[in-house]
Order: sequence, then structure tokens, then C-alpha cells
Amino acid sequence: MKEKLILGSKKEVVKEEDPWMKGNKEWKIRVGYRLAEDEERSCKACKYRIRIKYHGKSFNKCEKLGLSHSEATDIRLKCICNLYEKGESRVYDADYGYWIK
Ligand code: SF4
Repeated sequence: MKEKLILGSKKEVVKEEDPWMKGNKEWKIRVGYRLAEDEERSCKACKYRIRIKYHGKSFNKCEKLGLSHSEATDIRLKCICNLYEKGESRVYDADYGYWIK
């Protein structure tokens, strides 16, 4: 967050977007991340998808986008991008720290 001084004393608070969040949004735009028309041809069926199991929940990430704890790198199974390649996704158990498949 940044404060901008206006007319000597009045301040306007300008909220800046987190650069990490912004970078991921830009990546998604660059690769044409969008809703898929067909479930068979979507992130769900892409070889770059990684399902991370953590504390009883599952998070879907993309190997091409990069992994982080942030929801900014979450992907939706019903979406697709131009980097799509058909294949089996991998599953990582973050509670125990090993690859299930
Ligand atoms: S490469 Fe594209 S289609 Fe494949 S998982 Fe990542 S975002 Fe989804």
C-alpha cells in the first residue's frame, strides 16, 4: 500500500497489487488460461497438473506456472491454457513430503 499526498495534508491511499499475484495473473493471460470447452481437454487431463494433498484438502497447481503456498498459483480443473498436453497428473502428499504418483 502506498500513500499519496494531495494538497499538502490530505492523503489518498493507493492500494498496489501484490507483485507475486500480478505476475501470476499476467502469466495466465499470456498462455491463454480460460474455461475449457471439454472436460477431456482441460487442466484436469493435463500432464502438467499437480494435485497437492495437504491437511485433508486438495490443491491443484500447474508445473508450468510454478508451485507456491499462495492461492495465486491455484488452477481450476475446468480451465485450459495453450500449454495443455494430454497426460496423467501427478499427486504430492505435502503432509508426509512424498510423491504418491
Ligand atoms: S499447462 Fe495449462 S492446461 Fe496444463 S495444467 Fe497448466 S494451466 Fe492447465
